[in-house]
Amino acid sequence: MKVAICIGHNSKNKGAFSLYLNQSEFDYNTRIAKLVKDEMPDCIEVFNRFYENSYSREIENLAKRVNLNEFDLVVELHFNAAVPSARGCEALYYHNSILGKKYADSFCEAITYEYFSENRGSKPLSLETDRGFLFVQKMKAPAIILEPFFGSNSEAKNFINAQRYADTIVKWLKCL
Ligand SMILES: [Zn+2]
Repeated sequence: MKVAICIGHNSKNKGAFSLYLNQSEFDYNTRIAKLVKDEMPDCIEVFNRFYENSYSREIENLAKRVNLNEFDLVVELHFNAAVPSARGCEALYYHNSILGKKYADSFCEAITYEYFSENRGSKPLSLETDRGFLFVQKMKAPAIILEPFFGSNSEAKNFINAQRYADTIVKWLKCL
């Protein structure tokens, strides 16, 4: 299984900031990607997005680089943010992708099993205006967006241990 791990957002616009983690999505997920790569060096390639003042240009540039390789799966690492009461795990996939849905379902199962958290389930992206649509659409391989928890909810404290989350991803990937 060859997997591309893309870090959500970029070094300039780092995404949501979690007070519980005291970190942005970009900084947290950069650590996670490194830990996963350390455990599965032959299977994983890590990609960053380069800042552009446009989401679509940023994703087109990323997809061009990722699509030069043959991957079985492409993931993008994020965490969610919303009102403090929102919690749980979700994963987003391209609406027509059977494999995308399968991988998104199994990611949510792996996370909620490890953390006893709420399974919000996999969500299909079908409209250009859906957040993350271009990412799941532009990749040659099945692509999913991982939102394992809400950084705005105290459940984020369970993810302070980056190694535990990285290990959960490794276990999940090894079962696919
Ligand atoms: Zn994000």
